[in-house]
Amino acid sequence: MVSEIIAIGSELLTPQRVDTNSLYLTEQLNALGVEVVTKSVIGDDRDRLADAVRRAVSRSGLVILTGGLGPTEDDVTREAVAAALDRGQKYHSEIADQIEQRFRQMGRKMAEINRRQAFIIEGAAILPNDRGTAPGQWIEESDHVVVLLPGPPNELKAMFLRQCLPRLARIVPKQVIQSIVMRVAGMPESDLDQLISPVYKKYENPVTTILAAAGDIQVHLRAQCATEGDAQALLAEVAGPIELLLGDRIYSRNGDPLEATVGEMLRKQASTLAVAESCTGGLLAERITSVPGSSDYFGGGFVTYTRRMKTELLGVSEQLLEERGAVSAETAEAMAAGARRRTSATYALAITGIAGPGTGGENAPVGLVYTAVADAAGCRVAHRQFLGDRQRIRQFSVQMAMDLLRRRIAGL
Ligand code: ATP
Repeated sequence: MVSEIIAIGSELLTPQRVDTNSLYLTEQLNALGVEVVTKSVIGDDRDRLADAVRRAVSRSGLVILTGGLGPTEDDVTREAVAAALDRGQKYHSEIADQIEQRFRQMGRKMAEINRRQAFIIEGAAILPNDRGTAPGQWIEESDHVVVLLPGPPNELKAMFLRQCLPRLARIVPKQVIQSIVMRVAGMPESDLDQLISPVYKKYENPVTTILAAAGDIQVHLRAQCATEGDAQALLAEVAGPIELLLGDRIYSRNGDPLEATVGEMLRKQASTLAVAESCTGGLLAERITSVPGSSDYFGGGFVTYTRRMKTELLGVSEQLLEERGAVSAETAEAMAAGARRRTSATYALAITGIAGPGTGGENAPVGLVYTAVADAAGCRVAHRQFLGDRQRIRQFSVQMAMDLLRRRIAGL
């Protein structure tokens, strides 16, 4: 069974409001093995919404609508669904009584317009709302189910869990969705896709999605099968060849970010880390310390933005800075060695580069970045020429530095 979600509300089409209900519903539906194939956001417009509902029921077995069940003129969901399904609406006095009582409990008088919420589409089951006034509605037709849920997230969640899950368990064919998330560093998205697409393109199930960020690519495989065993077997069938092709460029097989992977490697070795950052201004330390428990291996670091600070805090020689420049392999190496010397950490990681848009007086192009890792065996340096804006270049640099450390620890 596939599903669609329609979020209703003109406010959701403004830059101020985000449709978060559909994220919650997608998570819940996926856990039941129901895939969400389309999501839409429709303003408070009866005809547009009725059109969207007609289209949705013609192609999907489950259509869930959220919002627009309130008492005002712009709450059009009931009317639009009734029109789309060609059904009438019936006034339920017991619902009006319940709403009235709810107002009385709050010491208020119910406005007449609230009676609109007592209209239920013919044939619909009523989903009581113990957190608000608008009841939900559950409509089963021969080949599809349409569900109307309130917009406020707390009302929607309670109603979905208590009223919808038991009904869905009855009608949804037993399916499970299992996924694998592999993460890859130091590879452009197009290169990765060219390499692995011959494998995953042969399969419609699992579905493969590639998500790319600066210096970091996630490969998601989602398998939908009758049993957990079948899903695992299918995932292994596709993930195996992909892993062989990507090799040691894969740094995580459980979706963990690079800082968590590197942190775990340091912890296992009982090693410590210090950092020395120039163009990233603390971003590397921020990423490393975003992992809970990072104090087990991370000692601290130096943000040495000027040449003077590189000399005073890390002992990088003035002559070296003069001769080679602050953005050079030699300076990156000297920064890492200096940070290690001054902290006695097992590893020290350094970054120096030009994040742009100006070059800060250095004789190097925007986007040129050097990273270095120092340990007892010596120093290793890498450099890359990145493209992009300042923030992107800084993010690339941090990712590159952490991957250099990962490779060093793993002996790659
Ligand atoms: P009521 O009128 O009783 O509040 P309703 O079903 O008419 O219920 P809406 O008026 O559409 O709901 O939305 C009420 C509030 O709920 C909105 O102002 C918004 O804050 C929140 N909301 C609505 N839809 C969503 C959504 N898809 N995602 C997140 N929040 C939502």
